[in-house]
Amino acid sequence: MATSQVGNSYRNGTHSHRTSLKPQAKSKPTQRRNSTGKDHAAAVPGRVRVAVRLRPRNAEESVADADFADCVELQPELKRLKLRKNNWDADTYEFDEVLTEFASQKRVYEVVARPVVESVLDGYNGTIMAYGQTGTGKTYTLGRLGEEDNAARGIMVRAMEDILADVSLETDTVLVSYLQLYMETIQDLLDPANDNITIVEDPKTGDVSLPGASLVDIRNQQSFVELLRLGEAHRFAANTKLNTESSRSHAILMVHVRRSIKGRDAALSSENGSHQHMVKSIKPPVVRKGKLVVVDLAGSERIDKSGSEGHTLEEAKSINLSLSALGKCINALAESSAHVPFRDSKLTRLLRDSFGGTARTSLVITIGPSPRHRGETASTIMFGQRAMKVENMVKLKEEFDYKSLSRRLDIELDKLIVEHERQQKAFEDEIERLATEAQHRISEAERNYVDSLEKERSKYQKDYMESIKKLEEQFMMNQRKNEESLMKSSGETPKVSAEELADLKKMLQKESHLRKAAEGEVHNLKIHVAELKKSEASGKSEIVKLHEMLEDEERQKEKLEGEIAILQSQLLQLSLEADETRRQLDRGGLEKEIGGLNSLTSQVKHQQQASGNGEKPSIAKLFEQVGLQKILSLLEAEDADVRIHAVKVVANLAAEETNQGKIVEAGGLTSLLNLLKSSQDETIHRVAAGAIANLAMNETNQELIMAQGGISLLSMTAANAEDPQTLRMVAGAIANLCGNDKLQTKLRDEGGIKALLGMVRCRHPDVHAQVARGIANFAKCESRASTQGTKSGRSFLIEDGALPWIVQNANNEAASIRRHIELALCHLAQHEINARDMISGGALWELVRISRDCSREDIKTLAHRTLVSSPSFQAEMRRLRVNY
Ligand code: ADP
Ligand code: MG
Repeated sequence: MATSQVGNSYRNGTHSHRTSLKPQAKSKPTQRRNSTGKDHAAAVPGRVRVAVRLRPRNAEESVADADFADCVELQPELKRLKLRKNNWDADTYEFDEVLTEFASQKRVYEVVARPVVESVLDGYNGTIMAYGQTGTGKTYTLGRLGEEDNAARGIMVRAMEDILADVSLETDTVLVSYLQLYMETIQDLLDPANDNITIVEDPKTGDVSLPGASLVDIRNQQSFVELLRLGEAHRFAANTKLNTESSRSHAILMVHVRRSIKGRDAALSSENGSHQHMVKSIKPPVVRKGKLVVVDLAGSERIDKSGSEGHTLEEAKSINLSLSALGKCINALAESSAHVPFRDSKLTRLLRDSFGGTARTSLVITIGPSPRHRGETASTIMFGQRAMKVENMVKLKEEFDYKSLSRRLDIELDKLIVEHERQQKAFEDEIERLATEAQHRISEAERNYVDSLEKERSKYQKDYMESIKKLEEQFMMNQRKNEESLMKSSGETPKVSAEELADLKKMLQKESHLRKAAEGEVHNLKIHVAELKKSEASGKSEIVKLHEMLEDEERQKEKLEGEIAILQSQLLQLSLEADETRRQLDRGGLEKEIGGLNSLTSQVKHQQQASGNGEKPSIAKLFEQVGLQKILSLLEAEDADVRIHAVKVVANLAAEETNQGKIVEAGGLTSLLNLLKSSQDETIHRVAAGAIANLAMNETNQELIMAQGGISLLSMTAANAEDPQTLRMVAGAIANLCGNDKLQTKLRDEGGIKALLGMVRCRHPDVHAQVARGIANFAKCESRASTQGTKSGRSFLIEDGALPWIVQNANNEAASIRRHIELALCHLAQHEINARDMISGGALWELVRISRDCSREDIKTLAHRTLVSSPSFQAEMRRLRVNY
C-alpha cells in the first residue's frame, strides 16, 4: 500500500469527515479493492497501469501463418511478455498485467477497469484507454455489447453495470456523452448534426467540459446499451460520409457520476457517536462528482504518407496528431516531468482532468500474434513500456535474475569440479593398491614355484645317488663273492651267478619303480607350475580390467568437461541476453522498431551503439573467461547440444562488429562454413548461416567466404532447407556478397544468382525481400562495372534467368521487396545491351509504371531519366504509339 493510502486509513477515524472530500472518499475503495486482491497501482502513485492483451489467431492467420510461431510468447504468471527478435533471440518486457489469448472479458474488466470505476464512484476522475494496431481487439475489449453472448460484454457495458449497482437513483445522477474525434474535430455520436464541439476548460478548477455535447441521463442498463448502439450506428454513418474508416478516429465515452453523500455520511457518523452526528447534520449536503472516460483509440499503425488511402499529407498529419500527443503526455507523466503538453491536441485537452494527479488511468495495449506485424507489435509494446515508467523495477529485476542464475551455475560448476577431482584421486589410489597386491601375489607364486622345484629336484637326486650307491655296493659284494667261489671251484660258477642275477633283477625292478615315482613327481610339479602360470595370467587380466576402468573414468571426466562447457556457453548465452535486455531498456526509444530492409544490419547497428555506451558489459568478462578459442572448438564438439549452443553463442558474438574480426582471425568463419557442410541439423544451419550473413557485411570477410567455397556451401544449404528463416539467413548472406564489386564474376560463375533465384520457392516475404536485395545489389555493381568498361555483354542477371521473377515482383505489395526490384530495374535499364531482353520480358512497362507512380521521388526520377535516354525504349514506345 502506498503511503497516501496508509495516511488515509489513519485519518479514517473521527476527524476524517471534517476534512475535505478526498481522504474521506478513500475509505470505501480500500475495502472494495481488496476484494479483487490486487492493488499494484498503489506501489507507484498516479502511475498509468498498463495491461497487455493478446488477441487469439484469427481464421486467416491460422491458415497463412500456420508454419510460423507467434511473434510473442506470454508468461502471465511472471507478468512478462517475450517478443521474438529472430529464431534464437527474444526481448522480455514486464507489464502490470499480461492477458493471454484465453483471458475472459470478465477478467480483463476486473484487472483493467474495475479499480478505475471504483475510484470514479468515490469522486475521482478516471480513464480507461485501449491502444493498438487496428484489428487487435480494442473495440472488442472496450465496446462489445455482448447481447448475443453475455460473457462477451466489454468494459463499457460492465462499467455501467457496476456504476448503476452502486448509485442510488433517487439522489444520484449518471450522465453520458458519446463522442468521436477525427482530424481534430469532435463530433457528437448521439446527435450527428452536432459536428464541431468545443472544449471548455475552467481556468480555476482545471475541469474540462463540452457544453455542446449531448448529455443523456441513464436510469437503467438497457437504455445505456441502446445509447451505445445508436452511437455506433452514427459513427458508421459519419465515417462513410467522411470517407474514412473508424480505425482512424477515436471514440470517447464520458460518464459523469454525481452523488449526494448525505445518506452515507449519516450512517457513518451515527457509528461514531451522536456528537459527530450533530455537527454533520447542520452542514449542507455534499455532492461528489466523478468522471469516467473510456477511449477506444484510433489504430496505432502509421498512416502511409504517400496518400495511398486518398489522404493528403496534411490530413495524414492531423489524423495522427492526437495519438502522438497522447504518447508525449503519457511519457511526460511517466517521467514526472514538470511540463505535460496537454495543449498539443484535442484528445489530450479532453483528458487533462482525467489524467495524472489523483486520477486513475488504465491503459490496455492490444496486440496480435502474427509475425507479419512484428514491427507494429513491437512499437505498441514500447508505447506500453514507456507508459509504465520502465526504470522502476523491470531492469533491476532482470539483472538480479541473471546474476543469481550465473552464481548458481558457478556453484554447480565448482561442485562438479570438486567431486570429479575427489573421484579421480580415489580411483588412482585403488588402482595402485590393486596393482601392488597383484604384483605381490605373482612374485610369491614364483618364489613358491622355484622353492618346490628345487626341493623336488634335490630329493630326487638324493634318492638317485643312494640307489646308485647301493647298486655299487651290491656289485662290489657280488664280485667279491665271485672271486671267492672262483678260487674255491671253477665248476660251480653258473649256479651262484643265477641267484645273483635274480637279486640283481629285483633291485633293478625296484630301481625302475623309484624312477617312475620320481617321474610322477616331476609331472605333478609341472601341473603345479602350469597352475601358477594360470594364476599369473589371471592377475594380468585383473590389471587389464583396472586399466579399462581407468579409461572409463577418463571418458567420464571428458563428459563432465563437456557439460561444464555447455554450462559455460549457456552462461554466456544468458549474459548475452541479459546485456541485450539491458541495452533495450537503456535505449528505450522507438528506434527499436525494425521492419527495415535489412534487419541484420540494423541489429548490428543497434548493438554497436549500445556497446559504444562506455559501460563495460559483463559479456566481455565472460568472453575472456571462456575464451573464444574454447567456444570455437565447441563448434566441432561431438555432442549435438554442445554444438548448437556453441553456434548460437558464436552467432550472437558475430552480430557485434567489434567481435567479428576476432572471430574470423580465430578461424570462426571457417568453422561456421564447415558446419554448413558437415551438420545435418537445420537449427545449426540456420544459426550458422545467420552468423555468416553478419560476417558477410564486411568486405574482407566477403572475399574470405568466397575463397572458402562459400557460395557452393550456401547454395547447398539453401537447396536442403525447409525452414524459411534458414532461407532468409542464407539469402541475406548471398545478398551481402552480391554487393561486392570485386566478386561479381566469381559469384555468378559459382551459381550465386541461381541459388538466390532458387530460394523464391519459399513464399515467405522475408526470404523474397532478401532475394530482392541481393538482386538489387548485384545489378548496382554490375551497372557500375559496365559504365567503367570492366564488364561487357548482357547482364548476368538476365543470362541467369532472373528477369521473369523481377518483372513479376516489380509491383509486390511488400514495400521492402518492391523498392529493391525497382532499383534493380533502373540499374539494368541503364545499359542498351539489356534493352531488347527487357522489352520482350515486359520490364519496359514496369519501368513506365515506376516513372509515373513510384512513391519514392528519387526512384521515380531515375526511371524517367533512364527511359528518356534509352533509344531502344524510345523506339519501342513510338512503335506502340505510347505517349511518353
Ligand atoms: P480493433 O478495434 O483493435 O480494430 P476489433 O476489436 O475490431 O479490433 O477486433 C478485430 C477482430 O478480432 C474482431 O473480429 C474481433 O471480434 C476479434 N477479436 C479481437 N479480440 C478478440 C479476443 N480477445 N477474442 C476473440 N476475438 C477477438
Ligand atoms: Mg475498433
